[in-house]
Amino acid sequence: MDKKQQVIRWLEDHRQDYVDLLQKLVRIPSFSGNEYNVQMAVKEYAESHGFAVEAMAFDEEGKRPNLRITYPGTGGGKRLLLDCHCDTVPVEPGETWEHEPFSGDYDGEWVYGRGSTDNKWGITAILMTLRALKECGVTLSGDVIMQSAVGEEPNCDSRRYLGAGAMVRAIEPKPDACIVCEGSIKKVGTETPRNLKFSLKIEGKGCHPCSRRQCVFPQNDGIPSGSAKGVDALQKAMIIIDALYRLERELSTDYNRGGLVGTGGAADAPRDTIGAVTITPIEIKGGGVNSLIPSVALQYSAHYSAQFTREEMEGLIRSTIQNAANTDLWLREHPPVMEVSAANDGFYTDIRHPLVELVKQAHLQVCGEPTNASGWPAGCNADAMNDVVPCVVYGPTGEGAHTVNERSNVQDVLDTCKVYATAAMDFCK
Ligand SMILES: [Zn+2]
Repeated sequence: MDKKQQVIRWLEDHRQDYVDLLQKLVRIPSFSGNEYNVQMAVKEYAESHGFAVEAMAFDEEGKRPNLRITYPGTGGGKRLLLDCHCDTVPVEPGETWEHEPFSGDYDGEWVYGRGSTDNKWGITAILMTLRALKECGVTLSGDVIMQSAVGEEPNCDSRRYLGAGAMVRAIEPKPDACIVCEGSIKKVGTETPRNLKFSLKIEGKGCHPCSRRQCVFPQNDGIPSGSAKGVDALQKAMIIIDALYRLERELSTDYNRGGLVGTGGAADAPRDTIGAVTITPIEIKGGGVNSLIPSVALQYSAHYSAQFTREEMEGLIRSTIQNAANTDLWLREHPPVMEVSAANDGFYTDIRHPLVELVKQAHLQVCGEPTNASGWPAGCNADAMNDVVPCVVYGPTGEGAHTVNERSNVQDVLDTCKVYATAAMDFCK
């Protein structure tokens, strides 16, 4: 039998091993910051199957080890990193779960519990992939490296300085490519958006609503200008709000950046969300006393392609606000105040990168039908690694990540393991 077929067969034959391990990991709570116990279980499992394991912690107390588990090549080949994370989001008091969050229940199709889909299937899938390669006696010239990282969930900085990002910076030689094993509905995720949250304050001038006519028609009362009496901050805010809606539309539909136009759709490669820019008003506050609205405070959340730097996007937003303000006499004198409150990096890999084709081909070989490159909407370890190792995201369909009734489909993950093994055998051969 062809080696690839042998590996695929091995994975099918070891379904129960896969389920047992995933159940075991789900039953060990590992909220971000408390990853130690689950990592020790992963280490023990890998060592019991004959793999070398290195632990590296980057927190001050050394209680949050990242793990690196290697299936060594014979030398000279390319190194493939398979990345996953072992921390989970919390279970909140009062949540009602159909299966207890740490039950690890298995109904013959799905494994249930916190972390089952985000991201303990990933740990389990990579370990099974390494075992399949080893136990089928697959010889590769490059290393296949598993990384089980801590601190993925909280934010970009945690990923960069405590988890996956710190790991890839510390290890030499660097892997040549990385598959981030997160649920991607079997599409090849080549970018996740960056996020910029900002506030906007637009000042008007309060006055009694009965005096509004003097703001609108001031000369009838011998007032030189309406703004001497009052300025409706909502009306002024609408100028800015509309300008930001227009910027969003233009960047998402008309903006040509290196041939990638707007949302990135193309007849032969529907690339969901790639290139999309959204600038969403998420809160508006103002008024409340019996007056013209004296000021408006807005909160925005912008998501944008990692093709843009944060400085570029912030600059575009600032200049749009300023240009719109310049069209209005009052706003020219009283410019809106913008403050950035949070920023998250995404990642971006050119869809022509060989890694993208590698995973697409592996998917085609295993699943018998093509997949395509696609955007992936959430933050992930690629955000913290892509500047060191080129990354794509590839994984199964999951349910209930970050909410109740989280569960992971066993057949879907086994098929994903086959794709990882196939990609590794092609890349590291
Ligand atoms: Zn998550």
